[in-house]
Amino acid sequence: MDARRIDTDVLIVGGGPAGAAAAITCARNGVRVMLCERDATSGERPGETLHPGIEPLLAQLGVADRLAAVTGARHPGIWIEWGSARRFEGFGGDEHGAWRGFQVWRADFDAMLLDRARELGVDVRRPCAATGVLDDARTRTTDGVVSARVRVDATGRARWLGRALGVPAEPRSRRLFARYGYVEGECPPRDDAPALVADVEGWTWTARVKPRLYQWTRVAFNGERTAADWLPDEFAGMTRRGPARGADVTWRMAERVADADWFMVGDAAATLDPTSSHGVLRALTSGMMAGHLATAIVQERAPAHEAAAVYHGWLADWFAADAARLGEFYRRLNVEV
Ligand SMILES: Cc1cc2nc3c(=O)[nH]c(=O)nc-3n(C[C@H](O)[C@H](O)[C@H](O)COP(=O)(O)OP(=O)(O)OC[C@H]3O[C@@H](n4cnc5c(N)ncnc54)[C@H](O)[C@@H]3O)c2cc1C
Repeated sequence: MDARRIDTDVLIVGGGPAGAAAAITCARNGVRVMLCERDATSGERPGETLHPGIEPLLAQLGVADRLAAVTGARHPGIWIEWGSARRFEGFGGDEHGAWRGFQVWRADFDAMLLDRARELGVDVRRPCAATGVLDDARTRTTDGVVSARVRVDATGRARWLGRALGVPAEPRSRRLFARYGYVEGECPPRDDAPALVADVEGWTWTARVKPRLYQWTRVAFNGERTAADWLPDEFAGMTRRGPARGADVTWRMAERVADADWFMVGDAAATLDPTSSHGVLRALTSGMMAGHLATAIVQERAPAHEAAAVYHGWLADWFAADAARLGEFYRRLNVEV
């Protein structure tokens, strides 16, 4: 066999939470999966504050018992200062006590999910990048040409397949740009819970990721890029860890997020800015949903176009509800996004 020609049932491009969730779901249902991730290792990556609701999803993926090993801190809610005095918004609780969110180091969190995929027989290749879409469901990757019945685009904001197929993802909000970075040291006021604080020009998020390591994100309402040397007041005097980075967090959803032989999942399908607070949860859920539908297509249990329509409708409804909720949230500050 030509080592550069690979045959599989489902090709997943991107090894973040969305791609890993899709891979695990497909593999558990008995189809052959190859996942290619372009980076050799996941370094610092935003998306570290996870709602307690993540736990049941991780249980479904078979990794809930590994979560503690990648968790650097827990918190029972979030401090919010958003057009009124600072207040604590708890996650709630039950007879066992307060529900607590998780602060994870994304490199470890993503590796945990990919390890699970490997255990289930997924052919995980990294570093391996998808570089081109060929005809007949073939994809060019840096490991060779891959033939697959279904392709899943899990490339995050890179939107690899969407761009290659020319599927537009028009802005659904004003332009929003996030600047984010890390500092090392001690910040006791931030040790009990993250904080989201709005001022007249934008909002700032601060959180402890793990002992002696904190993360901040700043978004300006006017769409401008916050200066790279900016730092929240509460982190003044602490040691920067690496340069600040930037990300376009304008709300978007692809015009089509599925077709008979492909699905877009996670940020590749739709993104909201980080105040939506559950990008990783949406990545996992959409990956699992697409994984089930891709399996049904491969096993010929569902007509492919119907499966694609179901997925698109489900994601569009979710996005619309989230965007409406977030729009209301910004309106409390008299900001139209
Ligand atoms: C500043 C900021 C703060 C955030 N904070 C939070 C938060 O606190 N909580 C939260 O839930 N969400 C947060 N988010 C959102 C969260 O980061 C994303 O929603 C989440 O990471 C999406 O997961 P994903 O798997 O879709 O994409 P990603 O995590 O982006 O993974 C995509 C993967 O695809 C790979 N890839 C790209 N192109 C190719 C290619 N051609 N071939 C192969 N591989 C490729 C990339 O290397 C990457 O590993 C934040 C986002 C930002 C920008």
